[in-house]
Amino acid sequence: MDLFEFQARDMFAAHGVPVLNAVVATTPDEARAAAEQLGGGTVVVKAQVKTGGRGKAGGVKLAHSPEEAAARAGEILGMDIKGHTVHRVMIAQGAKIAEEYYFSVLLDRANRTYLAMCSREGGMDIETLAVERPEALAKVPVDAITGIDEAKAAEIVAKAGFEGDLAASIAPVVQKLWGVFVAEDATLVEVNPLVKTEDGAIIALDGKVSLDANADFRHPDHEQYHDHDAADPFEARAKAKGLNYVKLDGEVGVIGNGAGLVMSTLDVVAYAGEEYGVKPANFLDLGGGSSAQVMADGLELILSDPQVKSVFVNVFGGITSCDTVANGIVQAFELLASHGQAVTHPLVLRLDGNNAELAHQILAEANLPNVELLDTMDGAAHRAAELASIEISKGA
Ligand code: GDP
Ligand code: MN
Repeated sequence: MDLFEFQARDMFAAHGVPVLNAVVATTPDEARAAAEQLGGGTVVVKAQVKTGGRGKAGGVKLAHSPEEAAARAGEILGMDIKGHTVHRVMIAQGAKIAEEYYFSVLLDRANRTYLAMCSREGGMDIETLAVERPEALAKVPVDAITGIDEAKAAEIVAKAGFEGDLAASIAPVVQKLWGVFVAEDATLVEVNPLVKTEDGAIIALDGKVSLDANADFRHPDHEQYHDHDAADPFEARAKAKGLNYVKLDGEVGVIGNGAGLVMSTLDVVAYAGEEYGVKPANFLDLGGGSSAQVMADGLELILSDPQVKSVFVNVFGGITSCDTVANGIVQAFELLASHGQAVTHPLVLRLDGNNAELAHQILAEANLPNVELLDTMDGAAHRAAELASIEISKGA
Protein backbone atom coordinates (compact mmCIF):
# COMPACT_ATOMS: atom_id res chain seq x y z
CA MET A 1 0.00 0.00 0.00
CA ASP A 2 1.66 3.17 -1.24
CA LEU A 3 1.11 6.57 0.30
CA PHE A 4 0.74 9.90 -1.44
CA GLU A 5 3.59 12.33 -0.86
CA PHE A 6 1.47 14.54 1.40
CA GLN A 7 0.61 11.54 3.56
CA ALA A 8 4.27 10.55 3.77
CA ARG A 9 5.12 14.16 4.67
CA ASP A 10 2.59 14.17 7.53
CA MET A 11 3.88 10.81 8.72
CA PHE A 12 7.49 12.05 8.63
CA ALA A 13 6.50 15.16 10.60
CA ALA A 14 4.77 13.01 13.24
CA HIS A 15 8.01 11.07 13.76
CA GLY A 16 10.26 14.12 13.96
CA VAL A 17 11.72 13.98 10.45
CA PRO A 18 12.34 17.56 9.27
CA VAL A 19 9.92 18.49 6.46
CA LEU A 20 8.59 21.72 5.00
CA ASN A 21 5.17 23.11 5.86
CA ALA A 22 2.61 22.14 3.29
CA VAL A 23 -1.12 22.24 2.56
CA VAL A 24 -3.14 20.10 0.15
CA ALA A 25 -5.37 21.77 -2.46
CA THR A 26 -7.86 20.43 -4.99
CA THR A 27 -8.64 23.69 -6.82
CA PRO A 28 -6.65 26.78 -7.89
CA ASP A 29 -8.55 28.83 -5.28
CA GLU A 30 -7.56 26.44 -2.54
CA ALA A 31 -3.97 26.60 -3.85
CA ARG A 32 -4.01 30.40 -3.59
CA ALA A 33 -5.35 30.21 -0.02
CA ALA A 34 -2.74 27.58 0.84
CA ALA A 35 0.09 29.77 -0.47
CA GLU A 36 -1.24 32.68 1.59
CA GLN A 37 -1.47 30.47 4.64
CA LEU A 38 2.19 29.51 4.11
CA GLY A 39 3.23 33.17 4.29
CA GLY A 40 2.62 34.43 0.75
CA GLY A 41 6.21 33.82 -0.36
CA THR A 42 7.69 31.27 -2.72
CA VAL A 43 6.00 27.87 -2.73
CA VAL A 44 6.27 24.68 -4.73
CA VAL A 45 3.14 23.25 -6.31
CA LYS A 46 3.41 19.47 -6.47
CA ALA A 47 1.13 16.96 -8.20
CA GLN A 48 -0.06 14.26 -5.80
CA VAL A 49 0.05 11.04 -7.77
CA LYS A 50 1.47 7.68 -6.79
CA THR A 51 4.25 7.62 -9.33
CA GLY A 52 7.76 9.01 -9.54
CA GLY A 53 9.26 11.46 -11.99
CA ARG A 54 6.63 14.11 -11.35
CA GLY A 55 9.25 16.81 -11.65
CA LYS A 56 10.30 15.74 -15.15
CA ALA A 57 6.67 15.42 -16.23
CA GLY A 58 5.94 19.03 -15.28
CA GLY A 59 4.09 18.13 -12.10
CA VAL A 60 6.37 20.10 -9.74
CA LYS A 61 6.46 23.87 -10.23
CA LEU A 62 7.72 26.88 -8.32
CA ALA A 63 5.38 29.81 -7.66
CA HIS A 64 6.52 33.15 -6.25
CA SER A 65 3.12 34.45 -5.14
CA PRO A 66 -0.30 33.09 -4.15
CA GLU A 67 -1.56 34.27 -7.57
CA GLU A 68 1.13 32.25 -9.33
CA ALA A 69 0.42 29.28 -7.07
CA ALA A 70 -3.21 29.33 -8.23
CA ALA A 71 -2.09 29.51 -11.87
CA ARG A 72 0.42 26.64 -11.50
CA ALA A 73 -2.18 24.55 -9.65
CA GLY A 74 -4.58 25.19 -12.53
CA GLU A 75 -2.00 23.78 -14.93
CA ILE A 76 -1.11 20.76 -12.82
CA LEU A 77 -4.60 19.73 -11.66
CA GLY A 78 -6.14 17.37 -14.21
CA MET A 79 -2.75 16.63 -15.74
CA ASP A 80 -2.01 13.01 -16.64
CA ILE A 81 1.28 11.72 -15.27
CA LYS A 82 2.11 8.21 -16.47
CA GLY A 83 -1.56 7.27 -16.50
CA HIS A 84 -2.35 8.91 -13.15
CA THR A 85 -4.75 11.85 -13.20
CA VAL A 86 -3.83 14.64 -10.79
CA HIS A 87 -6.78 15.33 -8.47
CA ARG A 88 -4.76 17.07 -5.76
CA VAL A 89 -1.70 19.24 -5.42
CA MET A 90 0.44 19.85 -2.38
CA ILE A 91 1.48 23.44 -1.84
CA ALA A 92 4.80 23.32 0.01
CA GLN A 93 6.91 26.10 1.40
CA GLY A 94 9.77 26.80 -1.02
CA ALA A 95 13.24 25.71 0.04
CA LYS A 96 16.53 27.23 -1.10
CA ILE A 97 18.25 24.02 -2.10
CA ALA A 98 22.06 23.84 -1.90
CA GLU A 99 22.45 20.11 -2.49
CA GLU A 100 20.22 17.09 -3.18
CA TYR A 101 20.89 13.66 -1.66
CA TYR A 102 19.16 10.29 -1.57
CA PHE A 103 18.15 7.97 1.24
CA SER A 104 15.94 4.92 1.43
CA VAL A 105 15.39 1.91 3.60
CA LEU A 106 13.47 -1.10 2.40
CA LEU A 107 12.67 -4.72 2.97
CA ASP A 108 15.17 -6.66 0.87
CA ARG A 109 13.19 -9.86 0.33
CA ALA A 110 15.83 -11.55 -1.82
CA ASN A 111 18.43 -11.25 0.93
CA ARG A 112 16.00 -11.65 3.81
CA THR A 113 17.06 -8.47 5.47
CA TYR A 114 16.52 -4.72 5.49
CA LEU A 115 18.64 -2.55 3.27
CA ALA A 116 19.54 1.11 3.56
CA MET A 117 20.63 3.02 0.46
CA CYS A 118 22.21 6.43 0.49
CA SER A 119 23.85 8.72 -2.02
CA ARG A 120 25.25 12.22 -2.35
CA GLU A 121 23.61 12.34 -5.74
CA GLY A 122 19.90 12.67 -5.13
CA GLY A 123 17.06 14.26 -7.01
CA MET A 124 17.63 12.21 -10.13
CA ASP A 125 16.23 8.82 -11.02
CA ILE A 126 17.86 6.47 -8.55
CA GLU A 127 17.41 3.39 -10.75
CA THR A 128 19.54 5.11 -13.39
CA LEU A 129 22.18 6.01 -10.84
CA ALA A 130 22.27 2.43 -9.55
CA VAL A 131 22.91 1.14 -13.08
CA GLU A 132 25.22 3.82 -14.43
CA ARG A 133 27.25 4.71 -11.34
CA PRO A 134 26.69 1.99 -8.74
CA GLU A 135 29.71 3.19 -6.76
CA ALA A 136 27.83 6.42 -6.00
CA LEU A 137 25.03 4.52 -4.24
CA ALA A 138 25.92 3.07 -0.85
CA LYS A 139 24.03 -0.09 0.08
CA VAL A 140 24.15 -1.15 3.71
CA PRO A 141 22.27 -4.15 5.13
CA VAL A 142 20.37 -3.34 8.32
CA ASP A 143 19.85 -5.94 11.01
CA ALA A 144 16.19 -6.19 12.04
CA ILE A 145 17.00 -6.31 15.75
CA THR A 146 19.56 -3.53 16.11
CA GLY A 147 18.10 -1.48 13.27
CA ILE A 148 19.65 1.88 12.42
CA ASP A 149 21.20 2.99 15.67
CA GLU A 150 23.75 5.79 15.97
CA ALA A 151 26.62 3.56 14.81
CA LYS A 152 24.68 2.18 11.82
CA ALA A 153 23.54 5.67 10.77
CA ALA A 154 27.17 6.85 10.89
CA GLU A 155 28.22 3.84 8.80
CA ILE A 156 25.53 4.51 6.17
CA VAL A 157 26.33 8.20 5.70
CA ALA A 158 30.09 7.55 5.71
CA LYS A 159 29.69 4.87 3.05
CA ALA A 160 27.72 7.37 0.94
CA GLY A 161 30.70 9.76 1.15
CA PHE A 162 29.47 12.29 3.72
CA GLU A 163 32.04 13.68 6.14
CA GLY A 164 32.39 15.92 9.16
CA ASP A 165 29.54 18.27 10.11
CA LEU A 166 27.46 17.28 7.11
CA ALA A 167 27.62 13.59 8.08
CA ALA A 168 26.76 14.56 11.65
CA SER A 169 23.67 16.47 10.55
CA ILE A 170 22.38 13.77 8.18
CA ALA A 171 22.85 10.76 10.48
CA PRO A 172 20.11 11.75 12.97
CA VAL A 173 17.63 12.23 10.10
CA VAL A 174 18.51 8.75 8.84
CA GLN A 175 17.79 7.37 12.32
CA LYS A 176 14.45 9.18 12.43
CA LEU A 177 13.50 7.74 9.04
CA TRP A 178 14.27 4.26 10.36
CA GLY A 179 11.95 5.16 13.24
CA VAL A 180 9.17 5.80 10.70
CA PHE A 181 9.95 2.50 8.97
CA VAL A 182 9.63 0.46 12.16
CA ALA A 183 6.81 2.30 13.92
CA GLU A 184 4.56 2.32 10.86
CA ASP A 185 5.39 -1.20 9.63
CA ALA A 186 6.64 0.08 6.29
CA THR A 187 8.31 -1.94 3.56
CA LEU A 188 9.80 1.17 1.98
CA VAL A 189 10.70 4.65 3.15
CA GLU A 190 12.40 6.69 0.45
CA VAL A 191 13.48 10.32 0.44
CA ASN A 192 14.55 11.71 -2.92
CA PRO A 193 15.72 14.34 -2.59
CA LEU A 194 16.91 14.68 0.95
CA VAL A 195 18.22 18.23 0.72
CA LYS A 196 20.68 20.53 2.40
CA THR A 197 19.33 24.07 2.27
CA GLU A 198 21.49 27.14 1.81
CA ASP A 199 21.48 27.67 5.55
CA GLY A 200 22.63 24.10 6.19
CA ALA A 201 19.38 22.45 7.33
CA ILE A 202 18.67 18.85 6.27
CA ILE A 203 15.09 18.39 5.04
CA ALA A 204 13.11 15.52 3.52
CA LEU A 205 11.76 17.27 0.43
CA ASP A 206 9.98 14.32 -1.14
CA GLY A 207 8.74 11.16 0.53
CA LYS A 208 7.64 7.78 -0.65
CA VAL A 209 6.27 5.30 1.87
CA SER A 210 4.90 1.81 1.26
CA LEU A 211 3.14 0.19 4.17
CA ASP A 212 2.81 -3.52 4.87
CA ALA A 213 -0.94 -4.12 4.67
CA ASN A 214 -0.46 -7.36 6.63
CA ALA A 215 0.29 -5.18 9.66
CA ASP A 216 -2.91 -3.13 9.27
CA PHE A 217 -4.42 -4.87 12.29
CA ARG A 218 -2.09 -3.02 14.60
CA HIS A 219 -2.53 0.33 12.85
CA PRO A 220 -6.21 1.32 12.90
CA ASP A 221 -5.12 4.75 11.65
CA HIS A 222 -3.75 3.24 8.43
CA GLU A 223 -7.32 2.73 7.24
CA GLN A 224 -7.16 6.35 6.02
CA TYR A 225 -4.51 5.38 3.46
CA HIS A 226 -6.64 2.79 1.70
CA ASP A 227 -7.38 4.20 -1.68
CA HIS A 228 -10.97 3.01 -2.05
CA ASP A 229 -11.44 4.85 -5.34
CA ALA A 230 -8.47 3.15 -6.92
CA ALA A 231 -9.42 -0.36 -5.79
CA ASP A 232 -11.27 -2.59 -8.22
CA PRO A 233 -14.95 -2.63 -7.15
CA PHE A 234 -15.11 -6.44 -7.38
CA GLU A 235 -11.98 -6.80 -5.29
CA ALA A 236 -13.34 -4.33 -2.76
CA ARG A 237 -16.53 -6.41 -2.42
CA ALA A 238 -14.49 -9.60 -2.15
CA LYS A 239 -12.40 -8.07 0.60
CA ALA A 240 -15.50 -7.01 2.50
CA LYS A 241 -16.72 -10.63 2.41
CA GLY A 242 -13.33 -12.04 3.32
CA LEU A 243 -12.89 -13.77 -0.05
CA ASN A 244 -9.49 -14.46 -1.60
CA TYR A 245 -10.30 -12.94 -4.97
CA VAL A 246 -8.38 -11.25 -7.76
CA LYS A 247 -10.20 -9.79 -10.77
CA LEU A 248 -8.81 -10.77 -14.15
CA ASP A 249 -9.90 -9.83 -17.61
CA GLY A 250 -11.56 -12.92 -19.12
CA GLU A 251 -14.89 -14.71 -19.40
CA VAL A 252 -14.48 -17.96 -17.45
CA GLY A 253 -15.08 -17.58 -13.72
CA VAL A 254 -12.77 -19.79 -11.67
CA ILE A 255 -13.38 -21.13 -8.15
CA GLY A 256 -11.14 -23.58 -6.39
CA ASN A 257 -9.89 -24.60 -2.99
CA GLY A 258 -6.27 -23.82 -2.25
CA ALA A 259 -4.19 -21.10 -3.86
CA GLY A 260 -1.97 -23.62 -5.68
CA LEU A 261 -4.91 -25.46 -7.24
CA VAL A 262 -6.56 -22.19 -8.31
CA MET A 263 -3.30 -20.98 -9.88
CA SER A 264 -2.95 -24.16 -11.93
CA THR A 265 -6.64 -23.98 -12.83
CA LEU A 266 -6.00 -20.52 -14.26
CA ASP A 267 -3.21 -21.96 -16.39
CA VAL A 268 -5.36 -24.82 -17.65
CA VAL A 269 -8.30 -22.52 -18.43
CA ALA A 270 -6.00 -20.05 -20.18
CA TYR A 271 -4.58 -22.88 -22.27
CA ALA A 272 -7.95 -24.45 -23.11
CA GLY A 273 -9.39 -20.99 -23.70
CA GLU A 274 -6.97 -20.24 -26.54
CA GLU A 275 -9.03 -22.55 -28.73
CA TYR A 276 -12.23 -20.60 -27.97
CA GLY A 277 -10.85 -17.11 -27.58
CA VAL A 278 -11.69 -16.88 -23.87
CA LYS A 279 -9.64 -16.37 -20.72
CA PRO A 280 -10.02 -16.79 -16.95
CA ALA A 281 -12.13 -14.03 -15.38
CA ASN A 282 -10.75 -14.19 -11.88
CA PHE A 283 -8.83 -15.99 -9.18
CA LEU A 284 -10.98 -17.17 -6.28
CA ASP A 285 -9.65 -19.43 -3.58
CA LEU A 286 -12.35 -20.77 -1.25
CA GLY A 287 -9.72 -21.67 1.30
CA GLY A 288 -10.13 -24.54 3.70
CA GLY A 289 -13.67 -24.05 4.97
CA SER A 290 -15.76 -24.02 1.78
CA SER A 291 -19.01 -23.48 3.64
CA ALA A 292 -22.22 -22.92 1.70
CA GLN A 293 -22.03 -19.25 2.61
CA VAL A 294 -18.50 -18.86 1.20
CA MET A 295 -19.55 -20.72 -1.96
CA ALA A 296 -22.65 -18.52 -2.29
CA ASP A 297 -20.64 -15.34 -1.72
CA GLY A 298 -18.06 -16.48 -4.25
CA LEU A 299 -20.62 -17.45 -6.89
CA GLU A 300 -22.61 -14.27 -6.36
CA LEU A 301 -19.51 -12.13 -6.78
CA ILE A 302 -18.31 -13.93 -9.90
CA LEU A 303 -21.73 -14.04 -11.55
CA SER A 304 -22.28 -10.33 -10.98
CA ASP A 305 -19.30 -9.64 -13.25
CA PRO A 306 -21.00 -9.00 -16.62
CA GLN A 307 -17.93 -10.29 -18.42
CA VAL A 308 -18.32 -13.78 -16.93
CA LYS A 309 -20.05 -16.26 -19.25
CA SER A 310 -19.33 -19.59 -17.54
CA VAL A 311 -17.89 -20.80 -14.26
CA PHE A 312 -15.47 -23.59 -13.51
CA VAL A 313 -15.48 -24.93 -9.96
CA ASN A 314 -12.41 -27.07 -9.39
CA VAL A 315 -12.14 -28.72 -6.01
CA PHE A 316 -9.79 -31.30 -4.63
CA GLY A 317 -11.25 -32.77 -1.48
CA GLY A 318 -8.85 -33.06 1.41
CA ILE A 319 -9.69 -32.14 4.97
CA THR A 320 -12.69 -30.38 3.47
CA SER A 321 -14.20 -33.34 1.66
CA CYS A 322 -15.94 -33.19 -1.70
CA ASP A 323 -19.38 -33.93 -0.22
CA THR A 324 -19.07 -30.86 2.00
CA VAL A 325 -18.27 -28.78 -1.06
CA ALA A 326 -21.12 -30.39 -3.05
CA ASN A 327 -23.57 -29.58 -0.27
CA GLY A 328 -22.12 -26.07 -0.25
CA ILE A 329 -22.85 -25.71 -3.96
CA VAL A 330 -26.42 -27.00 -3.62
CA GLN A 331 -27.08 -24.65 -0.69
CA ALA A 332 -25.40 -21.78 -2.51
CA PHE A 333 -27.83 -22.25 -5.43
CA GLU A 334 -30.75 -22.19 -2.98
CA LEU A 335 -29.37 -19.16 -1.17
CA LEU A 336 -28.88 -17.23 -4.39
CA ALA A 337 -32.34 -18.21 -5.69
CA SER A 338 -33.89 -17.01 -2.45
CA HIS A 339 -32.20 -13.64 -3.04
CA GLY A 340 -33.69 -13.50 -6.52
CA GLN A 341 -30.26 -14.19 -8.05
CA ALA A 342 -30.86 -17.68 -9.43
CA VAL A 343 -27.80 -19.05 -11.20
CA THR A 344 -28.39 -19.02 -14.95
CA HIS A 345 -24.80 -19.25 -16.17
CA PRO A 346 -23.43 -22.65 -17.18
CA LEU A 347 -21.34 -24.18 -14.41
CA VAL A 348 -18.75 -26.89 -14.84
CA LEU A 349 -17.68 -28.85 -11.80
CA ARG A 350 -14.77 -31.12 -11.18
CA LEU A 351 -14.70 -32.66 -7.72
CA ASP A 352 -11.95 -35.12 -6.98
CA GLY A 353 -10.34 -36.52 -3.87
CA ASN A 354 -11.86 -37.29 -0.49
CA ASN A 355 -15.53 -38.46 -0.81
CA ALA A 356 -15.76 -37.56 -4.49
CA GLU A 357 -18.33 -40.28 -5.18
CA LEU A 358 -20.64 -39.11 -2.45
CA ALA A 359 -20.33 -35.59 -3.86
CA HIS A 360 -21.34 -36.78 -7.33
CA GLN A 361 -24.36 -38.51 -5.80
CA ILE A 362 -25.43 -35.35 -3.95
CA LEU A 363 -25.15 -33.28 -7.12
CA ALA A 364 -26.98 -35.86 -9.24
CA GLU A 365 -29.87 -35.84 -6.76
CA ALA A 366 -29.97 -32.03 -6.60
CA ASN A 367 -30.18 -31.91 -10.41
CA LEU A 368 -29.10 -28.29 -10.60
CA PRO A 369 -29.84 -26.44 -13.85
CA ASN A 370 -26.95 -25.83 -16.27
CA VAL A 371 -24.49 -27.75 -14.12
CA GLU A 372 -22.16 -30.28 -15.65
CA LEU A 373 -19.88 -32.60 -13.76
CA LEU A 374 -16.63 -33.68 -15.40
CA ASP A 375 -13.93 -36.05 -14.24
CA THR A 376 -10.72 -34.36 -15.26
CA MET A 377 -9.39 -30.88 -14.75
CA ASP A 378 -8.38 -30.57 -18.43
CA GLY A 379 -11.74 -31.83 -19.66
CA ALA A 380 -13.62 -29.50 -17.35
CA ALA A 381 -11.49 -26.51 -18.33
CA HIS A 382 -12.17 -27.21 -22.00
CA ARG A 383 -15.89 -27.55 -21.42
CA ALA A 384 -16.04 -24.33 -19.36
CA ALA A 385 -14.16 -22.45 -22.08
CA GLU A 386 -16.41 -23.91 -24.77
CA LEU A 387 -19.55 -22.99 -22.84
CA ALA A 388 -18.29 -19.45 -22.40
CA SER A 389 -17.71 -19.10 -26.12
CA ILE A 390 -21.20 -20.51 -26.85
CA GLU A 391 -22.72 -17.94 -24.46
CA ILE A 392 -20.77 -15.18 -26.18
CA SER A 393 -21.96 -16.29 -29.63
CA LYS A 394 -25.54 -16.26 -28.28
CA GLY A 395 -24.91 -12.65 -27.41
CA ALA A 396 -25.53 -13.40 -23.75
P1 GDP B 1 9.56 13.67 -8.17
O1 GDP B 1 10.08 14.20 -9.45
O2 GDP B 1 8.23 13.00 -8.36
O3 GDP B 1 10.53 12.79 -7.47
O4 GDP B 1 9.27 14.94 -7.22
P2 GDP B 1 10.21 15.69 -6.15
O5 GDP B 1 9.40 16.04 -4.99
O6 GDP B 1 11.43 14.89 -5.87
O7 GDP B 1 10.60 17.04 -6.89
C1 GDP B 1 11.40 17.06 -8.04
C2 GDP B 1 12.44 18.13 -7.93
O8 GDP B 1 11.81 19.40 -7.77
C3 GDP B 1 13.38 18.01 -6.74
O9 GDP B 1 14.44 17.13 -6.99
C4 GDP B 1 13.84 19.44 -6.58
O10 GDP B 1 14.94 19.70 -7.42
C5 GDP B 1 12.66 20.26 -7.04
N1 GDP B 1 11.97 20.80 -5.86
C6 GDP B 1 11.05 20.19 -5.10
N2 GDP B 1 10.68 20.97 -4.06
C7 GDP B 1 11.42 22.12 -4.17
C8 GDP B 1 11.53 23.33 -3.40
O11 GDP B 1 10.89 23.51 -2.38
N3 GDP B 1 12.39 24.30 -3.86
C9 GDP B 1 13.11 24.13 -4.98
N4 GDP B 1 13.92 25.10 -5.36
N5 GDP B 1 13.05 23.02 -5.72
C10 GDP B 1 12.22 22.01 -5.33
MN1 MN C 1 11.51 12.76 -5.81
